[in-house]
Amino acid sequence: MAVTQSNAVTTCKLLIGGDWVDSSATEFSEVFNPSTGEVIAKVPVCKGDDVDRAVQAAHQAFLEWREVPIVERARVMFRFKHLLEENYEEIARCVTREHGKTIAEARASVQRGIEVVEFACGIPSLIMGESMENIARNVDCETIRHPIGVCVGITPFNFPAMVPLWMYPVAITCGNSFVLKPSEKVPLASMLIAEMLIKAGLPKGVFNVVHGGKEAVDALLTHKLVKAVSFVGSTPIAKYIYEMGTKNGKRVQSAGGAKNHIIIMPDADMKQTVQALQASAFGCAGERCMAGSLALPVGDAADQLVPLLVESAAKMKVGRTDNGDGADMGPVITSQHLKHVRGMIEKGEAEGANIALDGRKVNVADAGNGYFIGPTVIDKAKPDMSVVKDEIFGPVLSVVRCNTIEDAIAVGNDCEFGNGAVIFTNDGNAARQFKRYFNAGMIGINVGVPAPMAWFPFTGWNNSFFGDLHIQGREGIQFYTQQKMTMTRWISPSADKFQDPIWKAKGK
Ligand code: NAD
Repeated sequence: MAVTQSNAVTTCKLLIGGDWVDSSATEFSEVFNPSTGEVIAKVPVCKGDDVDRAVQAAHQAFLEWREVPIVERARVMFRFKHLLEENYEEIARCVTREHGKTIAEARASVQRGIEVVEFACGIPSLIMGESMENIARNVDCETIRHPIGVCVGITPFNFPAMVPLWMYPVAITCGNSFVLKPSEKVPLASMLIAEMLIKAGLPKGVFNVVHGGKEAVDALLTHKLVKAVSFVGSTPIAKYIYEMGTKNGKRVQSAGGAKNHIIIMPDADMKQTVQALQASAFGCAGERCMAGSLALPVGDAADQLVPLLVESAAKMKVGRTDNGDGADMGPVITSQHLKHVRGMIEKGEAEGANIALDGRKVNVADAGNGYFIGPTVIDKAKPDMSVVKDEIFGPVLSVVRCNTIEDAIAVGNDCEFGNGAVIFTNDGNAARQFKRYFNAGMIGINVGVPAPMAWFPFTGWNNSFFGDLHIQGREGIQFYTQQKMTMTRWISPSADKFQDPIWKAKGK
């Protein structure tokens, strides 16, 4: 059992060596249902001893798992995929309950996670090395990809199922073992999914789960048996993980925060653009690292765009997501985060921007203690304002009106982040210039959220990523494997006299 139940509040266990066990921690943090503010689980704040138990178990399991033929490893992923599909609705409901996104958004995120498992099912054909014969007389050369050992995943609150699934299906199928430290704000989906990995027949100890915050993370980053660390979260922590992990000799891929720019050219189809912009900025209550958070309308595009967007976004139904599918937008994750988002809107107002749509006024009658804020549009912001420069991570879209596409690209290129950027236009040249010169790793052309599917890497730039090999796609496989090159001289006294029988038969 992943949890113990008392008075409807579950206490999370750790998954170590294939068994759900109690933490030795005496401190617990709380998991909330953001729609109501009620506590739904307690999660142990693990320390080094729990982490050590998990890493030791993972290391022991790795020694066996790496010997399992890759097709058998992939078969576990096929079974895992079926179980995820069978339990799709339950996982989505768990995500909604602990995170607050709508059930439709939760389902979509689980689907994205399943696609990574589908990708992992194909790893046998993607992990193959290269070979060349006769690089010198009687000498052949080949590369083979080996697993690296115990890999670690440290994940954020905003995609409880999907982001962890970016990591361990690939790591495990490549022959590694794994220790996951999910966000202490949303540990439940990871534990539910872990049950499915166990049912899929994954040997004990190949996948482990620990909980907690900085202390658990530091123990993972410094443990001598940990070989690689995948991190997704905010930029200051991503930078810390990268520096601390690499200092301790680990391979690290560390994805950070974002501020994603959306350029709207005057020739764009405004109706379609408004729909896409609304979904991008306010979907998942703006708690997406690929959310469009800064609109850069060019020329007279703003005069058409802003009134249409305000009118449309004002109609969005903000409400509880845990009791049906009536809401278009749910709450943000915690009361502290709600305070942060509100504080950023106040800052924008104080700095002189115009609050064209004010989500602070939203009222959700049946959920007095939920963490709600409505869609907010901050118009006529200036490039040096905090609402333009800093990540808000809530349903807030700032608008900087620009004269030319060059001005708009310049605003974007001044930004410390570089996750995603989008242009809406019918002008091929504008799209091409934007694609070529915008300083971000994931580009959308008439696409609101250009988040790559599992077959492509999640290519953040600048302070949105620290490391070399990104998460997902072939780069993910490279990250979780190390290459070995073998050069072989085929020594045989008869080698020089050997005659190829085929050519000989043809009388050549
Ligand atoms: P966070 O950085 O607060 O936490 C992420 C993880 O780090 C959690 O597991 C947490 O327990 C751990 N952590 C927190 N403080 C720590 C510390 N001082 N030392 C060590 N570990 C620590 O992020 P969050 O609030 O959970 O998630 C939101 C952030 O994640 C946003 O900035 C968002 O842009 C980013 N994000 C980025 C991507 C991407 O692909 N680039 C994807 C999703 C989310």
